[in-house]
Amino acid sequence: KELEKRTYYPRLIQTLKNVFRLQSFRPLQLEAICDAMEGLDVFVLFPTGSGKSLTFQLPAVCQDGVTVVVSPLISLIRDQHRALKGLGVDAEILVQEMSESDRSDLWRRLRGNGKPPSLLYITPERLELDGMRSVLTRLRQEGKLCRFVIDEAHLITDWGRSFRDSYVQLKTLKTVFPGVPISALTGTANPTVQSDIVSRLRLVIRQPYKLSHNRPNLDYDVRYKGKNVLGAIADWIKSTYPRDTGIIYCSSRDKCEEIAKILRDKFQLSARHYHAQMADTDKSHVQREWSSGKVRIIVATVAFGMGIDKPDVRYVIHHSLPNSLNGYYQETGRAGRDGKLAHCILYYNRPDFHTRLSMIRNQPSKENRTFEEDDIRRVMSYVMNDVECRRKQVLSFFCEDFDPARCRRMCNNCRDATPCVTEDHTGDAQRALRLFENLSRDSRLTPTQLSAALKGSKAQLQVERGWTNDPLHGTCSHLSQDVIDRLIDQMIWHDFLSIRTERSQDAYSQNYLALGSRANALRTGQQNLTISFRAGRKG
Ligand code: ADP
Repeated sequence: KELEKRTYYPRLIQTLKNVFRLQSFRPLQLEAICDAMEGLDVFVLFPTGSGKSLTFQLPAVCQDGVTVVVSPLISLIRDQHRALKGLGVDAEILVQEMSESDRSDLWRRLRGNGKPPSLLYITPERLELDGMRSVLTRLRQEGKLCRFVIDEAHLITDWGRSFRDSYVQLKTLKTVFPGVPISALTGTANPTVQSDIVSRLRLVIRQPYKLSHNRPNLDYDVRYKGKNVLGAIADWIKSTYPRDTGIIYCSSRDKCEEIAKILRDKFQLSARHYHAQMADTDKSHVQREWSSGKVRIIVATVAFGMGIDKPDVRYVIHHSLPNSLNGYYQETGRAGRDGKLAHCILYYNRPDFHTRLSMIRNQPSKENRTFEEDDIRRVMSYVMNDVECRRKQVLSFFCEDFDPARCRRMCNNCRDATPCVTEDHTGDAQRALRLFENLSRDSRLTPTQLSAALKGSKAQLQVERGWTNDPLHGTCSHLSQDVIDRLIDQMIWHDFLSIRTERSQDAYSQNYLALGSRANALRTGQQNLTISFRAGRKG
């Protein structure tokens, strides 16, 4: 109400209706817009689809001078440009691929021959070029540089691992262009990243405008990845969304191609692959066919996604583990932008986790190793936690507290009515560790072999290697195989045991167990081990 008394308010409403053809503001849009109108820096954290763009586009149209929008992807830039042109807004883009006459026209306007556009979209790389800088410096001196907008502002930090150098360079904007206000926009940032964005860009804001990361229309589901996972996926798609579009994410390029082919040939589904190794023309061709609905399923690596704003994606299926929970949030976030029900299904199994963990450990950069290992452990603890509301778990990654009652059975944990069980298995884990040490003196063990030995298996390999003679062989025979597997998972998770992947001659890799760096904490009883699970769920 207070904001409606501002002198410029009638103009905002008029422009909202006449130019943007919208009836009213969504939560926090007006607050952010008023700050922009008053020349303040603005920080906006809204999840995908909540309407971040209006917070700078509306002020840009209502104010004199040019608003420079820095955006990471040409495709994003083109989409916004097309939409604004459709509304009759004076917006321009400056990209490599544009006609000579368009380009020289635009430069003429920027150099003071004619009125500069209300909005100018560029990539951060272009902002670093001398020509661009000097033109913008001139505009600033003439008072015609209205504002910088940094879209996808989390790319400035990305948890301390710089995603893109030119984004990091944006930190100099306040020094190079003093007095020009900045809007920073993001759809995903935990509190650390939020304050990092504000401090790196040196924003002076009235207050941050934040909406919850929660996407209430997304249904989160985690499923065990059995041998016939593709059959299960194909059946689910055919029975649930036979005519809609979706994305299947997997970890490698080869897998994308293989899976898309199987879905086509064996299951008669309309599927194509997409990954970074493809030629640009092929990529945009596939993307266009999928966007238009001609191709229904895209099987992709994480290279597919940023800048996709197809509103009616009905499902995002992870055929392999995402790299991090943040990545998972972003990848699943591409579903259901239209606000209607959409499904996010994550398939997992233990070997996938073990292989990923070992790959991370084997890479040379120690800093990346620590970050990535932490990320994948969080993913695995999300996957393994089949008790707590999935939405609550996802949101806790952004340090948001979420009341599971608000989930409304929109995740597989809230839907599951079987009772939860939490058991202390410290003694079992200690004995498992001793058995592992005994058996691994003479040969290496895989997690499956240790699991079988704990159960007391009399399989040929166990007998031949003399493992059955160990007094601790079968020490967990009172537990189900599922609980034993969970016990070993937890031991790896807590680093009582660790995983090493070795590639054999026939190119198949095998995961072997080794002693973990925190084994002693378990031996001495400093650390307990509990397992929580749903009675009867496989996994
Ligand atoms: P974001 O960038 O946060 O993902 P967008 O700015 O692209 O979201 O907006 C998402 C959709 O919501 C767009 O189709 C946009 O037209 C629509 N939208 C934005 N603000 C409003 C509003 N106040 N009323 C109705 N629709 C809106």
